[in-house]
Amino acid sequence: MVDALEVIIMFTSAVLLFFTAYHLLQRTGRGKRLVLFTLAAFIVTMIAAGCGVGGSNNFSVDKAAVEQSVSPPQQQGEKQISEVPASEEEQQPELSPSAESTVLQKQEPAEEKPATSGTLKVHFIDVGQADSILVQLPSGQNILIDGGNNDDGSLIVNYLKQEGVKRLDHVIGTHPHEDHIGGLDAAIRSFEVGKVYFPKVAHTTITFENLLLAIKDKDLKITPAKAGVKLDAGQGVEAVFVAPNSSSYDDLNNYSAVLKLTYGSTSFLFTGDAEAQSEGEMLRAGYNLRADVLKVGHHGSSSSTTPAFLKAVSPKYAVISVGRNNKYGHPHFETLAKLSEAGVQVFRTDLQGTIVATSDGKTVTFNKKASPLKERAPDNSHAADSSAPVTSPVSVSSSGGVKIAGIDLKGEVVTIKNTGGAAVDISGWKLVSEKGNQTFTFPSRTVIPAGGILKVVSGPNAQAGPSTLVWTKSYIWNNKGDPGALYDAQGKLVSRYE
Ligand SMILES: [Zn+2]
Repeated sequence: MVDALEVIIMFTSAVLLFFTAYHLLQRTGRGKRLVLFTLAAFIVTMIAAGCGVGGSNNFSVDKAAVEQSVSPPQQQGEKQISEVPASEEEQQPELSPSAESTVLQKQEPAEEKPATSGTLKVHFIDVGQADSILVQLPSGQNILIDGGNNDDGSLIVNYLKQEGVKRLDHVIGTHPHEDHIGGLDAAIRSFEVGKVYFPKVAHTTITFENLLLAIKDKDLKITPAKAGVKLDAGQGVEAVFVAPNSSSYDDLNNYSAVLKLTYGSTSFLFTGDAEAQSEGEMLRAGYNLRADVLKVGHHGSSSSTTPAFLKAVSPKYAVISVGRNNKYGHPHFETLAKLSEAGVQVFRTDLQGTIVATSDGKTVTFNKKASPLKERAPDNSHAADSSAPVTSPVSVSSSGGVKIAGIDLKGEVVTIKNTGGAAVDISGWKLVSEKGNQTFTFPSRTVIPAGGILKVVSGPNAQAGPSTLVWTKSYIWNNKGDPGALYDAQGKLVSRYE
């Protein structure tokens, strides 16, 4: 990398050398003065050469060259083995060939090119039933997305300090709910802060007021977070909000600022609590939503992660930030089933604690192994429930004595019982409401123990539970009579109830 200053110094020394040589030829008598001149010219040349070696530390670096050398191809799916080795990419000539640049290039070792360490780290901090995500960018910048609940403030501040964070270049509050902004005020007060992003929506809670107070006390301004707004995330990283796309919503969750982060050929989508409505808008807006890692919307609630959205994102990995035994039944079985069906590897903060994903621009790795789909927390009070579907690889009979034991048409509850003496794996089995011809497919790893009961509920009041799967929040069963049928994974009728 050649800096303008170096070129000037080189040029000056060359002129000086030329002038000296000229004198030498013209007046061979004045030995002493010429020796001094030559010596001076030599020293200047050496200084210039010295700048060439350590130059990039002292002077601004050629941006285009660095971008080329640190950012692998932007297109998704370009992860073939044929990728150009980094060393080849770094061999970009900076100047038109001339005598000076040839000299400098010789003195510039190849390894001084990329200033970035080349890794992007995403910490999904375990803050229980809440969200808080730290992103450490290759440029050294930090992004904090959400700050957990009110009492998570010191936990988050300590975690960030432990990770060496001194400055939060970007603080994003996805939306005004306490489980997202609760500890943000503490974080803002504890670190040097660059920019604060927040969707344009007000909320009348003390938590929200505390956040505004912290922002005001630090003389910060709020940059509105909305679709299309980009963050200056440094070289090689693109960070853009893809939601919210509207200016007003009935549900605060849909105001969620959704950030898409792309580093090389890897990408992340942080959805906050965005629900179906916002997901639909993101799809219609035409954003490239594809991402290797999806922060699952709204703690895995069935109100988010619509099939169309999941298809557009097509994640390899999904992270669910959720609390143990939370009162909402998050993550909902439907969400887990959709992720499982799509072959997504799922990580959960309730089961695995803080999850850290690392990207080198080409691949994403995790600090934990993906969680088994329906494993429950060890301290889950329902874990001992013998009627709960279990996930352990127990020996299972293929059809066994599973049957529909009852359908409560009004209550929208279907009871399925395993009357046999062995556990039965009903993954991929189908429950059909014959009147409406609606079908529910059982998620993978759904196993009913011998003598166990599994309920499938629907309707607006449907709640997931340890042995209860939610079909949908819509009404399914016709109260005037609606036979239900159960088919196994091969489509063979197992049981019918009228
Ligand atoms: Zn939330």
